[in-house]
Amino acid sequence: MNIPITSFPRIIIIGGGFSGIALAKKLSKQEVQVVLLDKNNYHTFQPLLYQVSTGGLEPDSIAYPIRKVLKNFPNFHFRLANVTQIDDKNNTVITDIGNLKYDYLVVASGSTTNFFGNAEVEKHSMAMKTIPQSLNLRSLILENFEDALLTSDLNERNALMNFVIVGGGPTGVELAGALAEIKKGILPKDYPDLDTRSVQINVIQSSDSILKGMSEKASEKAEDFLEKLGVNVWKNLRVTNYDGKTVTTNTDLVFETATVIWAAGVKGALIKGLDAADFVTRSNRLLVNSFNQVKGYKHIFAVGDIACMVTDDFPNGLPMMAQPAIQQGRQLGDNMLRLIEGKPMQPFIYKDKGTMATIGRNKAVVDLKRFKFQGIFAWYIWMFVHLFFLIGFRNRMVVFVNWVYNYVRFDREARLIIRPYKKKNKV
Ligand SMILES: Cc1cc2nc3c(=O)[nH]c(=O)nc-3n(C[C@H](O)[C@H](O)[C@H](O)COP(=O)(O)OP(=O)(O)OC[C@H]3O[C@@H](n4cnc5c(N)ncnc54)[C@H](O)[C@@H]3O)c2cc1C
Repeated sequence: MNIPITSFPRIIIIGGGFSGIALAKKLSKQEVQVVLLDKNNYHTFQPLLYQVSTGGLEPDSIAYPIRKVLKNFPNFHFRLANVTQIDDKNNTVITDIGNLKYDYLVVASGSTTNFFGNAEVEKHSMAMKTIPQSLNLRSLILENFEDALLTSDLNERNALMNFVIVGGGPTGVELAGALAEIKKGILPKDYPDLDTRSVQINVIQSSDSILKGMSEKASEKAEDFLEKLGVNVWKNLRVTNYDGKTVTTNTDLVFETATVIWAAGVKGALIKGLDAADFVTRSNRLLVNSFNQVKGYKHIFAVGDIACMVTDDFPNGLPMMAQPAIQQGRQLGDNMLRLIEGKPMQPFIYKDKGTMATIGRNKAVVDLKRFKFQGIFAWYIWMFVHLFFLIGFRNRMVVFVNWVYNYVRFDREARLIIRPYKKKNKV
């Protein structure tokens, strides 16, 4: 890998997501050698992936080169590498570009879509966890309308214009809101020959409310916003299968559809090895103590989505969200320096800064510790927070300008089929 040998302890970080970047920033000015490995050369701002999928933003405005985030730090090294295994006996990570020894290892590999073992659903439905996946979804949505225009088979046309989103969490809700706006504002102009009133957008939620982690008020209001936008919200309904044409559920209800978007869950992106570690089977997350040490190891840590830190307030582990990831990354940076200096580490305490989701133009729900509000003010807050946390001045500017343009013009100009998506068993 051509990493220089120094007298400083070597810390390898796997993953340049929210937690990995926060950690690397803390450590890079210190007397340690930091090696960050990621299979992409960019950081992805996942909260805005749905806007890429729906043509609201270009992908490069939510991605940022990892090398640029950490430029000018002499002890920092980035390598574009897919880590395939951790050899804990020899303190070595095994990657597709070679192996590297570590003094300390931090797993910050995030999460992947959880299909809960249903291989057929996984094969036929669309995930939205990465930029390539979002671009696939964008292409598929647009291709569906092109195909709907060509077919004379009514059932086929309806299936092409029927969208099923599985999961009523923030991702499902935000995506449904964006699709509803496309239906209202874009489709009638782009496809005047198509009866786009028959476009159906369905959100299927297995429990009795959407936005489960948020307040009752936020959940009710979000449902109200969605229904006003014409989205069908199905609660207490569980998807049992999707064969590429038909979604079956735990009731008699079925959906004939060419597009299922799976936003029903995520699981830790586990890497092979770490045989002594404890992990939570259902969510595939590594159990860590309050110092983010992986249980069973002294020199191996985990932060962000992959780490399951159980607290009194969060008996199933801290939420798989950006804030815990960023806060853990920062705190671990301080703790690793303490550890190296022989000082005691400080336990991590999560500061819950609130949760929010937007449901299209002028509509959002925000739950802060003391205040909960919904509507246009919440929407402004949502926009401000997302702009603030985006990495890079150019990205902030581009996203802001796009949002203003889309708002004023009721438009989404990134509705482009750049890389056609070939779905197996297309309707
Ligand atoms: C569609 C969507 C919307 C979301 N919306 C919100 C929101 O509104 N608010 C919020 O707080 N959170 C949101 N989240 C969750 C939030 O993005 C995650 O909690 C956060 O990204 C976790 O940070 P992380 O550092 O653990 O992992 P990530 O940010 O996922 O980064 C993991 C990194 O590890 C790399 N990697 C993984 N495996 C390997 C390997 N084997 N080798 C090399 N590199 C590897 C990946 O390429 C990636 O760069 C959303 C997530 C999604 C998918």
